Amino acid sequence: MGTIDDLPPLRDVIATHGLSAKKALGQNFLLDLNLTAKIARQAGELRDCDVLEIGPGPGGLTRGLLAEGARKVLAIEKDARCLPALAEIAARYPGQLEVINGDALEIDPLSHLMPPIRVAANLPYNVGTELLVRWLTPRDWPPFWQSLTLMFQKEVAERITAEPGSKAYGRLAILAQWRTRARIVLSLPPGAFSPPPKVSSAVVHLDALPEPRYPADAKILQDVVARAFNQRRKMLRASLKGLGADVEDMLTAAGIKPTERAEQVPLEAFCALAREVAARRA
Ligand code: SAM
Repeated sequence: MGTIDDLPPLRDVIATHGLSAKKALGQNFLLDLNLTAKIARQAGELRDCDVLEIGPGPGGLTRGLLAEGARKVLAIEKDARCLPALAEIAARYPGQLEVINGDALEIDPLSHLMPPIRVAANLPYNVGTELLVRWLTPRDWPPFWQSLTLMFQKEVAERITAEPGSKAYGRLAILAQWRTRARIVLSLPPGAFSPPPKVSSAVVHLDALPEPRYPADAKILQDVVARAFNQRRKMLRASLKGLGADVEDMLTAAGIKPTERAEQVPLEAFCALAREVAARRA
């Protein structure tokens, strides 16, 4: 029996269903159900929420989310080999687990979920970053989700939560911190996974703010930040030249020294700059 439910331990599930880890799918499984329940608890109160889980694999985090009382879990998994193991969990929690076999980058899950919705995932890092950026940049805000609880390489987690002036500070920090409260809630050594990855991991929890911290047009802010950090070692008057001939005026009006570099500029000032750009384009 598992420690959080009466289903078999994950090692047995993996052996029974022949779930040898595939590198191409970024499969590093969590086998300790106490740990997956701990991650599920970081997602917040689940009782009245639907949870979107991406990449359930053999179902360690899925079981954690259900044991912590999630109203419903919708799990999207690319690897069809995992479906029988997930079906056993669905049978243990009737009506509470729906599994979709497919690529999370291609599937729109919204018609399967009722608000309030939380998102939880232990994903391959490339897919995780791409989904995070999509979840942070919807057309309308607030987004469909209330919170995101996501496992990342520690270095990516640090980029999401970085402060100005640090090497990790960049586009991800600004996108995340503009419209969410983001913090690292758990650090995990490689040995927590099977097989162990090369690097440490961390769980980041992001709560959607009801509205952005500072006013700005989302598209313009994203454009300004992408330009600024694409050439992060250059002074802003050079890296942002493409914004227009009057870039130095715009920077000064936004309270930013044209000789500063992107990594010194706080979120609030980037938002002020995005407003300047918008005002001059209007
Ligand atoms: N959640 C499980 C755990 O914590 O043990 C598995 C984590 S493993 C790091 C990542 C999982 O994501 C694998 O089961 C893999 O098959 C799945 N996966 C990879 N790419 C995916 C994609 N594009 N869409 C959905 N699932 C994907």
